[in-house]
Amino acid sequence: MTTAGDTALAETSSGVVFPPEGVDVVVFDVVGTLVEPSPSVAVAYQQAGLRHGLTVDAGIIQQRFKAAWRRQEAVDAAAVPAFATCRGREAERWRAIVDDVFEGAAPAAAIFADLWEHFGRVDAWQPLAHGSELVRRALDAGVTVALASNFDERLLAIAEQLEPLSWVPHVFASSEIGWRKPAPEFFRWVEQRLGCGPAEVLLVGDDPELDVAAARRAGWRSLGVAGH
Ligand SMILES: [Mg+2]
Repeated sequence: MTTAGDTALAETSSGVVFPPEGVDVVVFDVVGTLVEPSPSVAVAYQQAGLRHGLTVDAGIIQQRFKAAWRRQEAVDAAAVPAFATCRGREAERWRAIVDDVFEGAAPAAAIFADLWEHFGRVDAWQPLAHGSELVRRALDAGVTVALASNFDERLLAIAEQLEPLSWVPHVFASSEIGWRKPAPEFFRWVEQRLGCGPAEVLLVGDDPELDVAAARRAGWRSLGVAGH
């Protein structure tokens, strides 16, 4: 279930100690780690398109979405300072992604509004079993548990209502933090809020770069889990 080179923790679901010794704080990524969109992003976009009179193949949407998402990551990487964010930037990111996916078609603005609302709803998401198990084990171990996500503040309402997110006492969203992973400031901000130092924190996430590698650069431990 693990990726990205943390072989020491490769069997967490089959009996190896989790959280590992010396970890006092476990911070979970959210999307792809604890929950996933249901229906898929491609199907949600396709259905939103259909509601506004556009028919696009879900496979094509998926390809365009990946490219559009990467374009927005590149915009953030090139910004000064890199990977700073706010509510306005997050809305702008998704507006641009929807516009790219539907190639600037006239209803794209209405589709954006539709999808913004969709992904802010709890029923647009479903829990991932292995992530839920890790949250349960971290809570049972009595360590501090937090969520820290590149998702914006729509996450806060979802996290109150959807397990396993609702089990977790600390929920931090990028637009509130003011930074996105992989910015080192993202990790420093979480440490400050939790009152801990880097050496005692473990990040669990599905993205080899934004979660696993970025956390290590920040001095945290990290555990990669298979994304969906
Ligand atoms: Mg993720």
